[in-house]
Amino acid sequence: MAYPNFHLRCLICGRSYSPSELAYVCPEHGREGILDVVYDYEALRRQISREQLGRSQEFSIWRYRAMLPIPPDAPLPPLQIGWTPLYPAPRLAAELGLRHLWVKDDGRNPTASFKDRASALAVIKAREQGAAVITTASTGNAAAALSGICASVGQANVIFVPQSAPPAKIAQLLAFGATVLLVQGTYDEAFDLCLQVADHYGWYNRNTGYNPYMSEGKKTASYEICEQLKWETPDVILVSVGDGCIIGGLHKGLKDLLALGWIERMPRLLGVQAAGSNYLAEAWARGEDVLSKPPIQAHTIADSISAGLPRDRLKAMAAVRETDGAFITVSDEEILAAIPALARGCGVLAEPAGAAAYSGLVKAAAAGLVTANDRVVVLNTGSGLKDVANVMKGVEKVGTRPQHIPPHLSALHPLFA
Ligand SMILES: *Cc1c(COP(=O)(O)O)cnc(C)c1O
Ligand SMILES: [Zn+2]
Repeated sequence: MAYPNFHLRCLICGRSYSPSELAYVCPEHGREGILDVVYDYEALRRQISREQLGRSQEFSIWRYRAMLPIPPDAPLPPLQIGWTPLYPAPRLAAELGLRHLWVKDDGRNPTASFKDRASALAVIKAREQGAAVITTASTGNAAAALSGICASVGQANVIFVPQSAPPAKIAQLLAFGATVLLVQGTYDEAFDLCLQVADHYGWYNRNTGYNPYMSEGKKTASYEICEQLKWETPDVILVSVGDGCIIGGLHKGLKDLLALGWIERMPRLLGVQAAGSNYLAEAWARGEDVLSKPPIQAHTIADSISAGLPRDRLKAMAAVRETDGAFITVSDEEILAAIPALARGCGVLAEPAGAAAYSGLVKAAAAGLVTANDRVVVLNTGSGLKDVANVMKGVEKVGTRPQHIPPHLSALHPLFA
């Protein structure tokens, strides 16, 4: 099939563009004019099938290469991204009165978050354009993913993160050799600055909710979930939401699968937001227009989902509305408590934003939004080792403390009768 096998379409005006015409947003609509990548599904169906995929020995996102907007001969970064495990979680399911629950652990990606899926595409697209530098703003994980994948291919990159980002994420950036700019401000401010800088210096711009290809990398998680479930579609997928790119990407992947006839119905997407960063949940509950709704002040310990103006809000709202889903909010206290609950219930250690998705499931089950026979997938988007300080707060919150003992057998007797 001839490349490019896709075009770009503005989510606001529906105008179509060839990918050679523009790189990011619809010129008519500026920053808000986010583009969707549109494929010729007829042609795709002729090129690839579920059976062919089933024989693939490629256990990474490149398994789905034919369904991604990249040149067929593009060199792929060597890090192993995606095809993360989907674990059955029967004990957690039983606690919640459910019968079918899985946890997909995207903390298992090379830089320990879901963002590797998107950053991989950014590196390929930047190299396709011959860009000297790639840049992004990030709460931490998108940047760590970008700098890690850049390091794997020797690509220069400049990163804008709020100086409040967790130390592990900043350490990753520095170790990978990125040029790290710690912005004395919020993620939202870092984002605005990065857009200006990218434009000024002509750097390749990976920013979420601006670069149309990030959703395409993220959609691979939906492909994996459905294939790992042997194409028996789940009923509900829960994921935490900050900018809304992940939930939008999951939706896109599911729409692809539906159009290809590989799944027979659309799962409901439940987006989980922190109560202190609830722009989308509020807009959804009140029926507000996200193009006119002003930014909020975001405050949450779950740094990865702290976004005052979710940059991919159009895609995120469509993901929930078009799948008959919902937005759920959880407090920071609930998020912290969910870290040990998830870890103990299935062995997956999540950072706060990852645990938020599980916290949302607890609420959704209590509210009857998911019921016993639903086949439910919870996505952990980042490893708990990204934010050890908050993992410690979580375990202290549920009253777990280590015991200090002298190095003698007798010291054990009071503890174990
Ligand atoms: C980025 C991120 C999210 C949220 O993704 P959005 O696309 O911003 O909604 C959730 N969890 C983790 C760990 C992340 O890094
Ligand atoms: Zn437009």
